[in-house]
Parts: sequence; C-alpha cells; structure tokens
Amino acid sequence: MFGMNADWSLEVFERYFTIGDYAGGEARWCPGCGDHGVLTAIHKLLRDEQVPPETTVAVSGIGCSSRLPHYMGTYGFHGLHGRALPIACGIKSRRPELDVWVATGDGDCFSIGTAHWIHAIRYNMDMTVLAFDNSVYGLTKAQTSPTSPLGFKTNTHPTGAILPPLNPLTTTLGITNVSFVAQVVDWSPPLLYEVIKAAHRHKGTGFVRIIQRCPVFSDSVSKALQNSPERVLLLQHEKGIPIDASAKRQFPNSITHDPSDLAAARAVAEDTSRIPVGLLYQNTDALCYETLSSRGTEFTVKKRLAGINAALDRFTI
Ligand code: SF4
Ligand code: MG
Repeated sequence: MFGMNADWSLEVFERYFTIGDYAGGEARWCPGCGDHGVLTAIHKLLRDEQVPPETTVAVSGIGCSSRLPHYMGTYGFHGLHGRALPIACGIKSRRPELDVWVATGDGDCFSIGTAHWIHAIRYNMDMTVLAFDNSVYGLTKAQTSPTSPLGFKTNTHPTGAILPPLNPLTTTLGITNVSFVAQVVDWSPPLLYEVIKAAHRHKGTGFVRIIQRCPVFSDSVSKALQNSPERVLLLQHEKGIPIDASAKRQFPNSITHDPSDLAAARAVAEDTSRIPVGLLYQNTDALCYETLSSRGTEFTVKKRLAGINAALDRFTI
C-alpha cells in the first residue's frame, strides 16, 4: 500500500474492560441500601476478572434487589416473581458459555421461588446466585418475609411475625448435590468482594446469602447486627475465603471451619446464635447438569449408560 513500509504490521490491542463497561443505568435504590455495595462488588469483580460484558447475563426475579440487571452494562433479564432461577437455568442450558448471575431476594427466592431454589441447587449449573436477604418485602413496602425475625412488625403482622424465620443456610445445605454455600454481610466490602469472587470462580452453583441492609423497612434488624459485631463469626480455613486484616478488626470472633466438611457446615449453619460469614461448604466434584446434558461428550455417554444399566438392574426380576 502507498506510504507503508514493508515491515509495518497492524498492531492489535487486547480489549481491556473498565468498571464503566459493566455499569448500566443509575442505581435507584434508596440511600444507604445495602444493594449499592453488592452492585459495586460485582462491577469491580467483573473488571478484575475481565469478563467480556457481551458474555455476561444478569437475571433476576422481582423485588428491590431484582432491579440489578438494569444497573449492569451486560445482557439482562428482569423476570417474574420467584422465577429468576428457572430463567437462569434455561439460559445456561442453551448457552453454557455465558457467565450467568442471579439476583434474588428473600421474598423472591425463599418464598414464591422456593421450588426453583431447591431444584436449581440440585441441578448445580455453573452460575453465581446472590440472595439479597433484608428480612422483609421491601419493594411492596414491608410485609413479613420468610426470614423476618420472630416478633418483627410489618404491615401483614402489625403485632409481630408469629413464626420463627426460615434458615436459608440449613435449607440450602440440605439439598442433594449442593456444591457451594457462603454467607456474608453487605457492610464489609472486602469480605463481600472475596465471597462473591469465590462463588463466581466456583464451577457449579455458587450460592451466597447476603445479609443486606434495608434502612427503610428493616433497619432494626440490620442495626442490631451491625451494633453487635461479636455475633458475626468469621469462618477461616486455607480452603475458605481469604480474610484480610480489616475484616478481622471488624469481626473479632472467628473459628476454623473446613468447607469440605458438609456435616460441620450444617452444624455451623444451625447455630443461629451466631452469624457465620465466609465459606460454609464447597464441593468441586458435584455434578453439573449442563455438563451432563451436553451432547457428545464421552463423559456424558458413559454416565448415561451407567444410569440406564443401573435402572435396568433394579427392574430385573
Ligand atoms: Fe433498599 Fe429497602 Fe430501599 Fe428497597 S426499600 S431499595 S431494600 S433500602
Ligand atoms: Mg427482601
């Protein structure tokens, strides 16, 4: 070409994504809402991991936290109440190469979406599930949710919630083929980031219950916890979440907990006198549905044949 030296070559720069590439619309959550910090952690993590925005999908149900896909500069699907997980599973089953994130709340996931929660955990498809738990229905202005504490006053129970709250950790840890369960509070940004990072890197369903501040409708719940940092129990282990000095200063109490021990994870989860934060359980060998159901892999064929033979054996007279 005229004017070009023969030894010139076209220089192609690798793409580099900034936090702005993951940002969508301006977040319209209330000032002080814990959802802001979670969104920041997700944006930062995607930037740090350099996940292409065009291969990222944020899926949600209905609720305050379910507005998250609007605030992502990625693909997104703002679904129906309780239906974030089946939508996410559908996306993952057809497009397993996509990085799928699920934003769901305590009302969305632990109430109307319970059946989907159970089966999504069992299917263990490779996705990151963030359950924003503020112990109340926030979007619809204060009704009792499955995780509202006993005695917590709402529009539906003006004299106080009459049942003890559901425990999302013990429930999730009781589901067959569960592979990753963690918990964190939204007011510890370094820990929040590390927990979400571990869930995102996990191959399988990375389930994180985020205890989330709603200063408008359940301020007393999160304030009580924020004012009692000794109630928070850091879970420490070489296989667990890296815990930096700031988290140790913030939460003085800790135990050593091996996240490969399911029985120990269930015991930690059952003790509601403390709020464990960190990685409760991880099994990197748990079967992933999308891997088993993908066509043509030797692994899939062998597994299917083994399953058929086992079934035939059971019915042989
Ligand atoms: Fe957040 Fe509560 Fe406001 Fe909803 S109502 S945006 S959960 S502070
Ligand atoms: Mg809620």
